[in-house]
Amino acid sequence: MTSAPEWATARTMDDEALEVLRIDERRGLGVRARRGFAAGEVMHRFAGVVGETICQHSLQVDAERHISGTRYIGYLSHGCDPNARLDMAGFALIALRAIAPGEIVTIDYAATEDRLHRQFACTCGAAVCRGWIHGRGEGPDARGMAWRADHDVA
Ligand SMILES: [Zn+2]
Repeated sequence: MTSAPEWATARTMDDEALEVLRIDERRGLGVRARRGFAAGEVMHRFAGVVGETICQHSLQVDAERHISGTRYIGYLSHGCDPNARLDMAGFALIALRAIAPGEIVTIDYAATEDRLHRQFACTCGAAVCRGWIHGRGEGPDARGMAWRADHDVA
């Protein structure tokens, strides 16, 4: 196991600008912006434990490694048209567009994950919603194939 780079643990940013909350019963935990962010702004620099295990709140750092035990980023919701992205080389959460105070912060799980801990049916509501969400290096699992058949997705 290796830990995050030392600079990533320095609390140089406004670390209270985000908060983890329970969005609702169906969506579970998520992350909310407590202030506004500009497009392109670094919202948060994260730290955690980097290892080889994939778990519910881990995120993929590179081909072999995953980060868990993060304060916020493990709780980010998926969106097919997200308002933020993760820079896994710089350990940063970056706004893709202007984010208003109170907005739920979303990322595209398939942008970082080869395989998801658990695939799921997306309800993000975006015009470009992909429906069934899986990692970028895998296809839909058996549940996904059944979901796609039910929803007439080729
Ligand atoms: Zn979606």
